[in-house]
Parts: sequence; structure tokens; C-alpha cells
Amino acid sequence: MRCDKCQVEIPDDEVYLHAGSNYCEDCYIVVMSRPKTCDVGAVSAARASKALLGQSGEEGLTPMQKKFYDYVKEKGSVTQEELISYMKASYPNMTIEEGDGIFATLRHLELVKGHREGIGEGVKVYVDIWS
Ligand SMILES: [Zn+2]
Repeated sequence: MRCDKCQVEIPDDEVYLHAGSNYCEDCYIVVMSRPKTCDVGAVSAARASKALLGQSGEEGLTPMQKKFYDYVKEKGSVTQEELISYMKASYPNMTIEEGDGIFATLRHLELVKGHREGIGEGVKVYVDIWS
């Protein structure tokens, strides 16, 4: 597979997926360290904690994170609105910010990722299962 940014050939087990694109590690770090995305330190920390947890990072999740993840896993890909309304059925006081926080944690653990479709007013944010 080739890196979508620098076109370098990447072994399949070293491909980093972000927002629907494939990156080599160097480009992934550049993409992820842009403003308004998560910082590289957090990704490394999450990787380390995932390694400590063993193969399935999902075992260390809080019940709320687990519910969020299980729903994405079941659906494969779900819009942010649908996911939040599903979560609110169980956690009526949950805020969008909390939802974003859960998403960020799960993304750091490489359990889910996100992508956008459409532009401007019509943009939809999707949450996808990582693998
Ligand atoms: Zn690259």
C-alpha cells in the first residue's frame, strides 16, 4: 500500500488510517499534529496503554465508552447524530462534548476513527470502527 501523502510504499502492518486516507508513520504524525486534532504525545500514550492492556484495548474502557464502542462495532459506521441519540437513551445528561471526549479516547486507542462527508451546511460526521 502507498502513503496517500508522500506516496512511499508502506508494509500493510505499518499503515496508519486517518479520515479515510492511508499514511506512513511520518505523515500520520504530521497530519495528527495539525491544530484541532489530537496530539502525538496522547497517541503514543494511548498506544502504550493499549499494549499494557494486551490485544483488546476495549477491556479497559469505562461502561460509557464501552457502550459507545459496542454500538459503532455493531454498525460499522454511524453518523455522530445517531450515535449521540443512541447514547442519550442510556445517558440522558450526556453532552456533545462528552461524546467528543469518548470519541477522542477511543480514537487514541485505535478502536474507532472518524470521517466527514459533504461540505458546508450539509456536512455529516461519521464514526467508524477502526479495523
Ligand atoms: Zn507518507
